[in-house]
Amino acid sequence: MSKFDVPRIMKTILCKIKGHNYITVNKDNIFLEKVECKNCKEKFASDGYGRTGKLTPYWVENNIFFKIYFQKQAI
Ligand SMILES: [Zn+2]
Repeated sequence: MSKFDVPRIMKTILCKIKGHNYITVNKDNIFLEKVECKNCKEKFASDGYGRTGKLTPYWVENNIFFKIYFQKQAI
């Protein structure tokens, strides 16, 4: 069980009210831009259509799939 982290929860509430403060953490990947919230440190992924979703194992898996797919196309 994780301990009760009050400051983090306060930041999360702030994010819920004001919205996340995104910063890009990975610019070298053209297929999937990884962004992180400056406030709550939660990671998200931008799919290139302007949609930003929570960075889940599904996203990471898809990202790897696309990487391999395009590398194969290039050969
Ligand atoms: Zn946030």
